[in-house]
Amino acid sequence: MKTWIPDERNFACLTWKQVDALARAETLLVLPTAAIEQHGHHLPLATDTLINNLLLGKALALAPSDLSIYALPPVCYGKSNEHLGFPGTLSVSAQTFMAVLRDLGASIAAAGFQKLVLYNTHGGNTSLVDVMARDLRAEFGLRTFTLFGCPGAAFEGVSAQERTYGFHAGEIETAFLLHATPTLVHPDGYTANYIARVDKPELLKPEGSPANFAWLTRDIAPSGVMGDPTAATAENGERWSNDAAARIAEILAAMYHFKPGHGA
Ligand SMILES: [Zn+2]
Repeated sequence: MKTWIPDERNFACLTWKQVDALARAETLLVLPTAAIEQHGHHLPLATDTLINNLLLGKALALAPSDLSIYALPPVCYGKSNEHLGFPGTLSVSAQTFMAVLRDLGASIAAAGFQKLVLYNTHGGNTSLVDVMARDLRAEFGLRTFTLFGCPGAAFEGVSAQERTYGFHAGEIETAFLLHATPTLVHPDGYTANYIARVDKPELLKPEGSPANFAWLTRDIAPSGVMGDPTAATAENGERWSNDAAARIAEILAAMYHFKPGHGA
């Protein structure tokens, strides 16, 4: 698959002798987690994986060269059972996903590395990534960090409705791919669905509120889209991905230098 990770920041491009020579106690490894799942009629299955790779690749290109930071190959298969029933969705169970992260953490710790970032761009993985960040810290003593989505992008011009409920294959994800992989976007297949309305406050919401209902995509979005891609532009995708990459580069540097304290 296409990658934006610079070769000199790509862990999988190293030989074992080069890994052996790294300052492993200081090195920060970034493990991307994403998905291969339906993204409507207009975006490819790998959308979450491509966006992760785009943002991380741009961020690593900005990171100071004296910081030893490497991207690991991504865990492309995620917990995507909300999208089952749409051909092409390849999902693993929560147990499998966590077992893969646990085993990779064991290998990383056994090799003498101490710092690991879990960078996730698929919502269905989020709670599992939080669990595993703590479990890897507890079991292997790894200094673990979590990073989600695209911090630093202001998404100017995106409506409140789309910001709140443009969960999946909507304006933001479509803009990223129009910028990064335009030949993989099919604008003649745009469709729109919303799981809820911001102008219609309800007691129960799909997520992020005190009381939530569990949802499956097929319950509310026949095309598989949650959001509205029609306003997406490549220009916005480029600007937002550059903004996000700049912030992610800052965050990675902060993680690299992080020393836990006991408060002031
Ligand atoms: Zn997505």
